[in-house]
Amino acid sequence: MEASSSGISLRNGALAYTLPFSPFIIPLLPFAGRKMALIVQKFGGTSVGSVERIQVVADRVLATKAAGHDVVVVLSAMSGETDRLLGLARAISQQPTPRELDALLSTGEQVTIALLAMALAARGQAALSLTAAQVPIETDATHTKARIERIDGERIRTALQEGKVVIVAGFQGITAQGDITTLGRGGSDTTAVALAAALQADECAIYTDVDGIYTTDPRVEAKARRLDRITYEEMLEMASLGAKVLQTRSVEFAMNYHVPVRVLSSFVDGPGTLVTSEENSMEAPRVSGIAFSRNEAKITVVGVPDRPGIAHAILGPISAANINVDVILQNVSEQGKTDFTFTVERNDFDRALQILRDLAPILGGAEVRGDKGIVKVSVVGVGMRSHAGIAASMFETLARENINIQMISTSEIKISVVIEEKYLELAVRSLHEAFGLAQGET
Ligand code: ADP
Ligand code: ASP
Ligand code: MG
Repeated sequence: MEASSSGISLRNGALAYTLPFSPFIIPLLPFAGRKMALIVQKFGGTSVGSVERIQVVADRVLATKAAGHDVVVVLSAMSGETDRLLGLARAISQQPTPRELDALLSTGEQVTIALLAMALAARGQAALSLTAAQVPIETDATHTKARIERIDGERIRTALQEGKVVIVAGFQGITAQGDITTLGRGGSDTTAVALAAALQADECAIYTDVDGIYTTDPRVEAKARRLDRITYEEMLEMASLGAKVLQTRSVEFAMNYHVPVRVLSSFVDGPGTLVTSEENSMEAPRVSGIAFSRNEAKITVVGVPDRPGIAHAILGPISAANINVDVILQNVSEQGKTDFTFTVERNDFDRALQILRDLAPILGGAEVRGDKGIVKVSVVGVGMRSHAGIAASMFETLARENINIQMISTSEIKISVVIEEKYLELAVRSLHEAFGLAQGET
């Protein structure tokens, strides 16, 4: 199998991948009573945040194993650990070498996998912890946001056959040259889904600190409602628009390889949310969720000459520096000059600004302005395809709250607006209300 942009290529066909048979009719829970399955369980930072919590994870894994299933566990670092390591790096250098940053950040996951393996061994369950290099999970060499290129499942399969629980370090990879990489923040989700695809697992369960995927972040809107199901497409939009409950790339993997993913709480039992394919969009609600992102910044190039090639002249060097550009706006020109505005992730802001300032000579004396105080709020729903007027309702709601819209971008199933940061909560809550998403309403 060849590597596609987000695909998995498997070494020498050792694990030739075919689509799982009818993945959507396999109920994910309860496991009990079903014949033996291969289950990938991923536990996020809060779920492994202390020794006590690691013991709870060990109990859960043991229960799944006792029900007769094979279990591959993927772990994050303890909560706060990746940030702590980032802080250490920044205390040394404002722009740490990406290769060394990855060597540092990947250590958090090595701690938790070893501890869980010990906890299982102490309960009499043989377990094997594996770093990405030991699996191996091969990635490209884009340090800090590497892409998985292939996974060799042989060592995992052998260990499973020996009755072991296999525990894989999330978030990390290894290049063909043997350098450690990381997959971007939240990357353990992607490790889990990619492993589930490569191993043709029956289930991929993502255990976290909320009991499923909600209509919006329950930390911002207490009236948010848990969804029983969400389509891959909607979750892909929600994730890429800022809902960090799943990393965007993990949803891409799930969609491309038809991996049924369930998001569950590691603290309380419940059905969670199933991420799956679209069923009947005619019946879908107009809007399924509200996503938002604080990780935004806006750059405006004022008074650039309005001539062919100007967008390329501005955005080419930005993209060459591996900076993602999101919403783009070019004004109508006046006297041959125009303003060109676009958004980037806030952590790429300083670099983007510098690149544009260096370009000044070819931008005809244009002025470069930046604004870090913006956020993006989006409404998402496959039901938008068959319902008109969502944009109008969204703009009307924001107008009623006196929230000024700075930029707008749309796709078939989402509408995003860029607004001032201080209005984030107000915008999310009023849109949540306006589209009838609160608990008790459907
Ligand atoms: P983990 O450490 O388990 O990977 P994360 O912090 O990455 O957990 O993701 C879970 C968090 O995602 C929740 O605590 C919640 O605040 C946030 N979140 C954002 N949007 C949503 C949403 N629509 N539904 C559920 N959680 C969301
Ligand atoms: N530990 C990494 C992070 O904090 C990866 C993850 O938790 O998914 O981003
Ligand atoms: Mg996460």
